[in-house]
Amino acid sequence: MTTQSTAAETTRAWVDVDLGALVRNGAALQRHAGVPLVPMVKADAYGLGAVACARALERLDPAGFGVATVREAEELRAAGITRPVYVFSPLLPADFAEARAARAVVTLGDPTAIAAWVESGGGTWHLAIETGMHRAGIRWDQMADVADLVRANPPAGAFTHFHSAERNDGSWEAQEARFTQALAALPVRPPVLHAQNSAGTVRRGASPWSFIRPGVFLYGVGSGDGARLTPEPVVHVRARILETHALHDGDTVSYLATWRAVGQRRVATLGIGYADGYRRSLGNKGPALLHGKRTCIAGVVTMDMTMIDVTDIACHPGDVVTLIGRDGDSLVTVEQVAEFADFMSPYEVLTGLRQRLPRRHREHVP
Ligand SMILES: *Cc1c(COP(=O)(O)O)cnc(C)c1O
Repeated sequence: MTTQSTAAETTRAWVDVDLGALVRNGAALQRHAGVPLVPMVKADAYGLGAVACARALERLDPAGFGVATVREAEELRAAGITRPVYVFSPLLPADFAEARAARAVVTLGDPTAIAAWVESGGGTWHLAIETGMHRAGIRWDQMADVADLVRANPPAGAFTHFHSAERNDGSWEAQEARFTQALAALPVRPPVLHAQNSAGTVRRGASPWSFIRPGVFLYGVGSGDGARLTPEPVVHVRARILETHALHDGDTVSYLATWRAVGQRRVATLGIGYADGYRRSLGNKGPALLHGKRTCIAGVVTMDMTMIDVTDIACHPGDVVTLIGRDGDSLVTVEQVAEFADFMSPYEVLTGLRQRLPRRHREHVP
């Protein structure tokens, strides 16, 4: 789906989401792994718009979609998505009826929760196996605790989740060995097995499992050194210049006067700030692209406005500045912005973009 832009959407600041690049990133992963995708579209597709992203990814004939909450599953159903929707967080019994109504596949590991799911009416579920993260699922060496439940109510699948697949530290291999050990200890082997997130997919070749569960790679964030695939950028955060200011030697910019002009300088005020999710910690550090040239944030990012140094770039109010993404041949990656923002996680940069920034879904972003 491509949403038509209205003038009002792009008067100040917005996010261009490149659906063509999203689908190509998914296709590249699928080719690489040789198994279907279950794209993770939780948290509104990492802030980019779950429905628009899921509809675009339908072209890859995915084996389903992954979310974190029942509400997110309901949103996909309301949008007409009919494929399996997996809820990848443990649910409390209070959520079971709505999960069932949304035809969600629940993921359970706690024996009491599994028993409650069965007793309350049952339905398709996958067994969550905990292999090192100690976040969700039954410990890999405690399959005896669920053996009777699994025998009586076989899960449609079983899975685990890697904690550090982006590192070359042997951890995903160790987790996978635990996963295999747990599967061997079950009274019946579930027919559908899955384990790999983005990093766990790009750091190995063909997948030995039924499908892969990538998230962040789809949205344009790579998996660091040693990754065998690099994604295309998907997210482009834009803001318009609202004013320009000529500064004299010694003039200062923004709160706390942390940026001081040396000689004659020019700054431009952008209509974006930390209330849009453009972090305050990017003050005096964040890169900005204007007319294909790279410049930098000047002074502290304020709630609604941010200044950039435009001394060497001719520009006017209304011109568009790119704070994340591509402008001509220049690119600011999500990872770079995360690093400048005091080593935030790129996931947090994406999911931190606030709703005040309209998302424009585009088949192609030049
Ligand atoms: C979020 C999540 C993923 C996707 O992880 P990425 O690192 O974004 O690829 C996969 N599986 C589970 C269970 C998750 O919660």
